[in-house]
Amino acid sequence: MPSIIHVDLDQFYAAVEILDFPELKGKPLIVGGRPDSRGVVCTASYEARAFGVKSAMPSSQAARLCPNAIWRVPRMDRYAEKSHEVHAVFERYTDQIQSVSLDEAYLDVLGSIKLFGSAETIGRRIKHDILSETGLVASVGVAENKFLAKVASDLKKPNGFVVIPPGREHAAAVLNPLPVSRLWGVGAKTGDRLAELGIVKIADLLALDEEWLSRRMGRENATRLLSLAQGIDSGEVECGGISKSLGRENTFAKDLYDIDAMERELFAFCDEVSSRLRAAELKCGGVTLKVKFADFTRISRASMFEEPTDLGEPLYHAVRTMLRERVELNGRGVRLLGVAATHLVRANAAQQSLFSDGDNQKKERAAVAIDKLRGKFGDGAVTFGRLLEKRSDNTGTPAI
Ligand SMILES: [Mg+2]
Repeated sequence: MPSIIHVDLDQFYAAVEILDFPELKGKPLIVGGRPDSRGVVCTASYEARAFGVKSAMPSSQAARLCPNAIWRVPRMDRYAEKSHEVHAVFERYTDQIQSVSLDEAYLDVLGSIKLFGSAETIGRRIKHDILSETGLVASVGVAENKFLAKVASDLKKPNGFVVIPPGREHAAAVLNPLPVSRLWGVGAKTGDRLAELGIVKIADLLALDEEWLSRRMGRENATRLLSLAQGIDSGEVECGGISKSLGRENTFAKDLYDIDAMERELFAFCDEVSSRLRAAELKCGGVTLKVKFADFTRISRASMFEEPTDLGEPLYHAVRTMLRERVELNGRGVRLLGVAATHLVRANAAQQSLFSDGDNQKKERAAVAIDKLRGKFGDGAVTFGRLLEKRSDNTGTPAI
């Protein structure tokens, strides 16, 4: 029974721009670094792609191909926010989610079929819910493994929905005519080598003798390529190990009206969340602010970091900026505030930035020392400044 769904949002950055600025609809739109800035294209709308513009292409080249393009600088925070909305849809159907990027994820819905119906049904519902709730169009593939699901989602893009039923014959019908570059691990270099050997399509690869291919590509590569070419992939949806987010929220005994009081709460949450990140040896690539008003309306705002962090200070800075600049309080009382660290990665896997300065490293060492003291003497032992002393009394429980 197929149970893997691959969801890939169409022209994601461009789609969000069009959603926010409808006058861009139907125009050749390029989201990326400006042509005079040595930047690259992040996403091009389908109208710009018709001119040959592609992702990762130097912006100067894109400008030559499509001189009438409208250019937009990427707004990563906004894209993260929309990605978050899409994830909220996924989470209603399964907790087995592997995010590949802001606009792409694998879902294993085997455990959800009893509740919601077949993987195909779930895939259609997800595609429908994404459009109706976020305004974004997704291409969806359903198959028995990740590789085939990804091939399927790409097959009828944009706005595609393709199911590859189980069975070698179905996989072969889809795969055989495709170029070998569709196989994982076949980049430009391997592709060129295969082309020199006369291998262009996946069917060409399957016609080869495995020994012959092993001698040219190495045994491991040859075996892996031939398995994929037959639609065999044993990779699992990797969601386990790291939880998706780590957060803290509180419902207050009395609604908060004073922004300083809100900031004190958020400061304490960020302090706690960063401590827990360090204890779990995780860093977060983004942070979400959740606000529930006295009238029970709720909003969330998301922000991404340039590099993953486990420090309270950047978390608080981001959250405070979102509260001040992207939340319209309009005098309303705030009933609940929450902070969640998102896009978690293992601390040792988080890439050290080339420019990460001594200052940051010092702060990290200080943070570790504080965690140790807290471990010994309890949470009250060390706080940053006096902010925490002024916190209002609140009821509520750690959440998320
Ligand atoms: Mg995409």
